[in-house]
Amino acid sequence: MIVLDGKKTAQEIKEEIKLKVSAMKGRGERVPHLAAVLVGSDGASLTYVGSKVRSCEQIGFESTLIRLEEDITEEALLQEIMKLNNDHTLDGFIVQLPLPKHINEERILLAIDPQKDVDGFHPANFGRMALDLDAFTPATPFGIMQLLERYKVPTSGKHCVVVGRSHIVGRPISILMSQKGPAGDATVTVAHSRTQNLAELTRQADIIVMALGIPEYLTANMVKEGATIIDVGITRVADESHPKGYVIKGDVAFDEVSKKASFITPVPGGVGPMTIAMLLQNTLLAREWRD
Ligand code: NDP
Repeated sequence: MIVLDGKKTAQEIKEEIKLKVSAMKGRGERVPHLAAVLVGSDGASLTYVGSKVRSCEQIGFESTLIRLEEDITEEALLQEIMKLNNDHTLDGFIVQLPLPKHINEERILLAIDPQKDVDGFHPANFGRMALDLDAFTPATPFGIMQLLERYKVPTSGKHCVVVGRSHIVGRPISILMSQKGPAGDATVTVAHSRTQNLAELTRQADIIVMALGIPEYLTANMVKEGATIIDVGITRVADESHPKGYVIKGDVAFDEVSKKASFITPVPGGVGPMTIAMLLQNTLLAREWRD
């Protein structure tokens, strides 16, 4: 059994980007610049945005954090987005989700210039990705594809069951893995909350991508011997014995499933760290595509 080490792979990708950035600097070129918009002060969002900004600094990108009040109106936020769209010093920007309830997320995401949409959530990018054109691929599925490719996990002709059909994980990874090319060429089944007899499906799978957000849902009896397991789930589960009062759990019962798996991602340290690395990769692409 091989553990797909997302922490190590993400570090390697960051080192590769860092080298490209220092070469850019050496040629006297402008380095990539990423901005992050954070509305309000939700603890988890602050942590995520903080680590994105820190990662930018580590690899030599310029970064800007734009913090806005929780009660900002939708119109005022749209104006901020327009400013960022028109800011020529910026290569890309992200709007940290979730947004406060009074703001229509879809309206905000649609307002982002697709050429600066390094999260890859704009329909223009999603459509381009689905049509095999150059696009910003959403960071989490992009990270999964990188892990599969770099660890040379066989995918061609394999049956992959993706559990979850969200727009940011399940749907895009199902498209990417069915496309031609590295980490692709799989035969993909997409399962969701209406799927019947899920265990029957997962037992037939060579590759299982779990992206539903229910801790330790995938158990050993749902998995065939030698399967590859990708665990996207991140759920905080209360645990008083831990200093933080919680532990992070994935969607896979790792201890029992890993005994049957040929490749498996851990949580934490699997798909999670890859997500930030791929956001940086998209920002580098945004910088390169502007030339
Ligand atoms: P969503 O809640 O948007 O989607 C969950 C999906 O799981 C839905 O399609 C839902 O079906 C399906 N589902 C729910 N219950 C079941 C069930 N019992 N059986 C089969 N399918 C079910 O979640 P996300 O895709 O945004 O996130 C999934 C998980 O991944 C979460 O834990 C999240 O925190 C994590 N995540 C991790 C990231 C990382 O960087 N590692 C990044 C993004 C997310 P239906 O469509 O029918 O409702």
